[in-house]
Amino acid sequence: MIEYQVVRSRRKTLSLQVRYGQVLVRAPYCVDEKFITTLIDKKSAWLKAKIAQQSQANGCRCDFSQGSTLFLFGKLVTLDIIFAKQARIILTDNNINSRKILTIVLAQRNKNKLYNSVLLATAVKKQLEQYFKQQAQQMIPLKVAIYAQLTSLTPTSIKIRRYRSRWGSCNNRGELSFNYLLMMLPIEVINYVVIHELCHLEYLNHSQEFWQLVAKYFPQHVQAKQWIKINQSALQWRLSSH
Ligand SMILES: [Zn+2]
Repeated sequence: MIEYQVVRSRRKTLSLQVRYGQVLVRAPYCVDEKFITTLIDKKSAWLKAKIAQQSQANGCRCDFSQGSTLFLFGKLVTLDIIFAKQARIILTDNNINSRKILTIVLAQRNKNKLYNSVLLATAVKKQLEQYFKQQAQQMIPLKVAIYAQLTSLTPTSIKIRRYRSRWGSCNNRGELSFNYLLMMLPIEVINYVVIHELCHLEYLNHSQEFWQLVAKYFPQHVQAKQWIKINQSALQWRLSSH
């Protein structure tokens, strides 16, 4: 099922629009929800094609090789892999196009060990994971503190870790965990994930009450989820050999 947003007005006709990968339905007050759901269903192939077209990722997938692309805070960056004395990661502007360059500097002393593309990609991935983890450890606790104050929902602890297929979690002891790969998402979408997990401290499910609470603190939650959905393929961290 495709997610969509309905804007009601005194207009006479119904219109379907895809903007920034999100489905927007403009409808007169008199049209009922069921009619809209049926229409979305009927047009789903067309809508999906439109959404895919508008995805920034354009089907790209990071394989951690020289020149491949990766999302960093919602923007695609190009990987540049070099060797130098000290391993580090540097983000720089690119003069040729607007896409930034993320330079992965691998330690010169390891160069001999990375003699094929799989070993090289594995080393790049490992270094990137450390970088993302550091960024997340700096950012996430601050965001949780800000939104805990706003929502009056406070976790007992915060963990930053790697998940294979989720962005965050909350358990019945009030402990929140966040995936450090969240650093790939736009800041607004990261905010949404933080609020989503905080709201689980009140409702440990995805009930209607839960979504109402999320919407109270983050009204654009449908768009945030949609961003993740349309860029899904580029958000997977897999080595091509796996
Ligand atoms: Zn949830």
